[in-house]
Amino acid sequence: MMQEEDAARPPTRIVPVPLQMVSAYLVMEEGVIVVDTGYPGSEETILEKLREAGAAPEDVTLILLTHCHADHAGSAAALRLKTGGRIAIHRQDAENLRNGLQGRIRPLNLVGRLTGWFFEREAYSRYPACDPDILIQDELDLAPFGVRGRVITTPGHTAGSVSVILESGDALVGDLIIPSVLSGKPGVPFWGESREEIRESVRKVLACGPERVHLAHGGMCQATAVREAFGR
Ligand SMILES: [Zn+2]
Ligand SMILES: [Zn+2]
Repeated sequence: MMQEEDAARPPTRIVPVPLQMVSAYLVMEEGVIVVDTGYPGSEETILEKLREAGAAPEDVTLILLTHCHADHAGSAAALRLKTGGRIAIHRQDAENLRNGLQGRIRPLNLVGRLTGWFFEREAYSRYPACDPDILIQDELDLAPFGVRGRVITTPGHTAGSVSVILESGDALVGDLIIPSVLSGKPGVPFWGESREEIRESVRKVLACGPERVHLAHGGMCQATAVREAFGR
């Protein structure tokens, strides 16, 4: 009986939604999870992509925010209104979400130092505040939302950054990994709390054994490339 049910389960589809400077993702199985929501005003583009992919707004079971930055949480409130999906964020980033603030960003490299002022401007750092429905502490099982996988904590970019690990062999890591400006290889983000924590979190993701890693800035890369770049 169990096996028959498993055989009938739909395959996992991961649909990137290119938005202004960032990509959100639709993870589609029995349910649809939206991972990140772009800057404010991105909800219609996400809904359009959802329709294109053959799903309806009410199929969205969960709006998962990988962290509280404006390019990820900016359209969460609007998207919840239009889909009824619940919003989940790690409790460490929840306060910023409730205030519609991305918080101070700390540069981790030269690019971060040179561009930080731009992304700290009010227009790029404030967004409509919203109260999350689900606070993530350690892990969140995605089965109740119709997706085979889980959310794990991967701090370092922000204290409450999380990643999605799917049984399909895909990992969605938000801003934990960003391509290097010079080499294009997977690297540490331009801003963050701690380089060491970021590396530790990358190792945690790799230990889950994904084949493909989906970045919020920079698309998909093979896990082998991440392993090479991070020395594991
Ligand atoms: Zn970020
Ligand atoms: Zn970002």
